[in-house]
Amino acid sequence: MRVLNVHLADHSYDILIDHGSLSALGQRCAEIRLIGNAAVITNPTVAAFYADTVASSLKAAGNNVTVIEIPDGEEYKNATTLNSVYDALIEAGIDRKSFIVALGGGVVGDLAGFAAATFLRGIPFVQVPTTLLAQVDSSVGGKTAIDHPRGKNLIGAFYQPKLVLIDTDTLKTLPEREYRAGLAEVVKYGVICDLPFFEILEKECSAIQAMDQNVLQKVILRCCQLKAQIVEQDEKESGLRAILNYGHTLGHAYETGAGYGTLVHGEAVAIGIALAAHISMSLGHCSSDDVARIEALLNAFKLSFEPPAVERHLLLNALTTDKKVAGGTISFICNSGIGGHIIEKFLPEQLIALAGLEV
Ligand code: NAD
Ligand code: MG
Repeated sequence: MRVLNVHLADHSYDILIDHGSLSALGQRCAEIRLIGNAAVITNPTVAAFYADTVASSLKAAGNNVTVIEIPDGEEYKNATTLNSVYDALIEAGIDRKSFIVALGGGVVGDLAGFAAATFLRGIPFVQVPTTLLAQVDSSVGGKTAIDHPRGKNLIGAFYQPKLVLIDTDTLKTLPEREYRAGLAEVVKYGVICDLPFFEILEKECSAIQAMDQNVLQKVILRCCQLKAQIVEQDEKESGLRAILNYGHTLGHAYETGAGYGTLVHGEAVAIGIALAAHISMSLGHCSSDDVARIEALLNAFKLSFEPPAVERHLLLNALTTDKKVAGGTISFICNSGIGGHIIEKFLPEQLIALAGLEV
């Protein structure tokens, strides 16, 4: 087992990475005095594979267990679903000594985390992420949220889990497209913070795609370390944490502009990474060789970075309404070579022009 401690003053916690560890969840929770009533929040897709193992493990450790299923999909990460979760928590007699287990991808993690942050003004929760994206990104860092009809993640809280348990075996049932999408976030960490890690990804790309357990766990651990280091320095995103947005500004514009459901988030991020690399090169922050290496790695992970045809006004609209726009200016994250970052500021129109998207 690989263990990473996230150091955050009075709410530090461990990330445990292993394979086959789902059945030890109850024991791991008991070790940090989480025992009593457990509410497992999941969705039917994930529950079909893993709810029994998780519930049995929690019961064996002495917990009463209630499994609460929410419908599968980003479109259900909303207030209506959240209310139904509150109802189920009340029905199950969940109190301040109880705890919530978020079993699933980022959608379940974000919504269950926000339920934990707000129910009874906050009860403990544990993340059990089952997608690659959730294991390397959303389960680490304490951002929880639901969507609003006017935008993604508009309602939320910073709320840290008591434990993150990553069982890499769960990735074996993940659709390949979702796995590849998670790899875009993995590439992101290498490009903006860690050249040696980028080189490992280049060298081990076949093993990663074959889910070689040793390599995969090292990769997930490194991503969690890098994200944890950034979050430890800037928990509430007043500065540094923004670098994690690399590839996301234009990626998000394409995700929205192409219409939700056309591109999976990570596929849009791959497009955003390639565009950000080109912009970084045109500003003199990296070489054409760096861009070629970044594109080659995306290619090796079968991530297409060819932007789909999206009308300019749709991109512009998405860029202007991005919640990270401040005073009309966008903080745009560039890569400095490979393994470094520089923050630039642009107007949305300037960014479209720099990306060469004047169609
Ligand atoms: P997701 O949660 O929708 O999961 C993708 C699909 O895979 C779903 O259909 C899900 O049911 C299925 N699935 C999950 N685990 C599975 C498994 N082991 N086997 C088979 N199927 C499985 O998507 P995601 O990419 O994990 O997360 C996206 C969400 O994460 C977005 O809502 C995004 O806003 C959020 N997010 C949050 C943060 C954060 O810091 N809190 C960071 C990044 C993304
Ligand atoms: Mg992302």
